[in-house]
Amino acid sequence: MLDVASKAFFQTLSYSRTLKTLASRYGMSGAGAFGRRFIAGETVEDAIAAVRHIQSQGLHCTLDYLGESVTSLGAADTATREYLNLIDAVDRAGVERNLSLKLTQLGLDVDRAICVDNLRKILTAAGRCGFFVRIDMESSAYTDATLDTFETVWKLGHRDVGVVLQSCLYRTEKDFERVNALGARIRLVKGAYREPKSVAYQQKSDVDAAYVRLAKRLLTEGVYPAIATHDEKILDAMIAFAGERGIPADSYEFQMLYGIRRDLQARLRDAGYRVRVYVPFGREWFPYFMRRLGERPANVAFVIGSLFKEG
Ligand SMILES: Cc1cc2nc3c(=O)[nH]c(=O)nc-3n(C[C@H](O)[C@H](O)[C@H](O)COP(=O)(O)OP(=O)(O)OC[C@H]3O[C@@H](n4cnc5c(N)ncnc54)[C@H](O)[C@@H]3O)c2cc1C
Repeated sequence: MLDVASKAFFQTLSYSRTLKTLASRYGMSGAGAFGRRFIAGETVEDAIAAVRHIQSQGLHCTLDYLGESVTSLGAADTATREYLNLIDAVDRAGVERNLSLKLTQLGLDVDRAICVDNLRKILTAAGRCGFFVRIDMESSAYTDATLDTFETVWKLGHRDVGVVLQSCLYRTEKDFERVNALGARIRLVKGAYREPKSVAYQQKSDVDAAYVRLAKRLLTEGVYPAIATHDEKILDAMIAFAGERGIPADSYEFQMLYGIRRDLQARLRDAGYRVRVYVPFGREWFPYFMRRLGERPANVAFVIGSLFKEG
């Protein structure tokens, strides 16, 4: 319950313009740059530097140009162009070619057909340069639209694209079957959004139990699944499960967020597992940052500590 309340509280704060303005002023520059704990920076250069550093440690990356919930076609077009520029920049830099994006950033709320067109532009450019693109999953209001859009581009022949499913939702077992029947790659997460009890488990123990159930199915039936969690107990249980079933370590990967449980990322890497770090960057970092606070309110102490250091 605390988990749900905290997510709800921080999700509400994430709509505050005043907080966003304050965070933008202090969050990314100066000694108190608390945003940098979870966000690689605001520019493509910052992102590529972070990827180089992470790759030099034997870890893999996926780059997320932050942005979501755009309300105009102009903004969706700008985000699409930013992704196309990012593809060029990554191509030139010769770093790992893996992107994550959100459909509401490409206009899902404004015009579904244009969102599909924007996504196709990105997938086409990405496909030419050998990228893999993951469509992030947003709140349950977008689950159907996200899966439908994903299936549309898949049926149009795009193959270097995958999607995300959330163990907190009751519906996910069925969604797993739908996406798996296509032969597509799934990233499994617990779910970062506050959800009502009509659609989602409210107790963390239920979300965790569903995660374990689904992750086992992904490991045995899925196509190169991504087990995306920082939950050490679950990770150890999945490693034991894969070992018992003789599932090779190169047939799946673990994924974690930038700046979270770096010790665990290193431990898994050292044990021979593939670990991918989700690297978010860009000026629109505030909602992403607030979700990270909502998952672990102890992070607020870290933010406050950073601000005091600045003085
Ligand atoms: C690669 C990746 C991609 C993701 N993509 C999506 C997506 O598309 N859609 C979506 O809804 N969600 C996404 N998420 C977020 C996910 O849904 C969870 O909100 C998030 O991963 C926290 O849950 P957990 O699985 O780590 O487990 P939890 O039980 O929440 O946490 C386990 C442990 O991890 C550590 N931890 C977790 N969160 C934090 C934090 N914020 N700060 C510090 N430590 C922390 C703590 O040690 C905690 O005890 C993604 C997560 C990852 C790792």
